[in-house]
Amino acid sequence: MSRVFNFSAGPAVLPEEVLRTAQAEMLEYGDSGMSVMEMSHRSKDFEEILFTAEKDLRTLMNIPENYRVLFLQGGGCTQFAMIPMNLMKHKSADYIITGQWSKKAAQEAKIFGNVNVIASSEDRNFAYVPDFSGLKVSPEADYVYICQNETVHGTTIRTLPDTHGKPLVADVSSMFLSEPVDVSRYGVIWGGVQKNIGPAGVTIVIICEDLITDDVLPFTPTMLKYKTHSDNNSLYNTPPCYNIYICGLVFKWLLKLGGTEAMHKINMEKANLLYDYLDGSKLFHGTVDKKDRSLMNVPFVTGSKELDAEFVKEAEKAGLRNIKGHRSVGGMRASLYNAMPIEGVKALVKFMAGFEETHTC
Ligand SMILES: *Cc1c(COP(=O)(O)O)cnc(C)c1O
Repeated sequence: MSRVFNFSAGPAVLPEEVLRTAQAEMLEYGDSGMSVMEMSHRSKDFEEILFTAEKDLRTLMNIPENYRVLFLQGGGCTQFAMIPMNLMKHKSADYIITGQWSKKAAQEAKIFGNVNVIASSEDRNFAYVPDFSGLKVSPEADYVYICQNETVHGTTIRTLPDTHGKPLVADVSSMFLSEPVDVSRYGVIWGGVQKNIGPAGVTIVIICEDLITDDVLPFTPTMLKYKTHSDNNSLYNTPPCYNIYICGLVFKWLLKLGGTEAMHKINMEKANLLYDYLDGSKLFHGTVDKKDRSLMNVPFVTGSKELDAEFVKEAEKAGLRNIKGHRSVGGMRASLYNAMPIEGVKALVKFMAGFEETHTC
């Protein structure tokens, strides 16, 4: 067996320890006589797995009592529709566009009502986060939407916008559990788990109880109402049982490491290793304004398409995988999620320095 350093933006690296536990429990979970994959979702064993996962997530994020935790399917792109269907009571919402994912969310919301783009960084291909100080929130808006960490463009919103009392809805897919957050500042905070938590197939939605109502847009299917899943503790229909089980193992792993505060420290250390190198490099440079850089997704370029391609090829050979940038940005992108060990970042920086030495005069 030889595991590589996997810098994929998602689905992404998982903690090896978690995979080993899953391997050990593959044929029989506890003394149940069967794999988690084979269990009824109504069984005692699975109910315990789901209950424990929620409890551990509540501990990790310090989730207030008046917020519900929903384990859903359909990925991030389904939330782009579920959010307006459930929250756009006056058919109007404000969107802040800082990259591909918030742009897609806004696009989808237009199916359901008025979308006001109240801030955007598209003028510079999303290389920064706009200044929110003079932000004009629309009086009729049902909510204000952000993608807090743009996976493709590598920006993070560090200071939340003042929404003038409107619920803030945040997609945190690619920074979920990477640092402490104050959940009470959000109406909805949600993410697909395949970036920073677990295997594709689960979307976690943390939502303030006040926003869960029957008053949704007409024609909203039962499966797309938050209330359906909230009333049934995420067991309205068969949930993605095995994937939830893996997420639960990741929550235990995080708790053992010291939770999101400890994780944040490690994540800063990892990201700084790479950013410090990029800032001093004559060959490579980061594409995002310093103040807005993501700790999770680090895009960088050489300035030459040919050299970028050569670098990606050589890196792959050296066991540094999935380092190619998103097709809309080009260049390279290293995703440094929670499960990426610091050794992986050190290996990457060392490899980049060697490449720089042989490719500059
Ligand atoms: C990957 C991603 C999505 C889309 O998730 P899917 O599960 O593929 O629909 C949405 N938002 C962000 C920030 C992402 O990184």
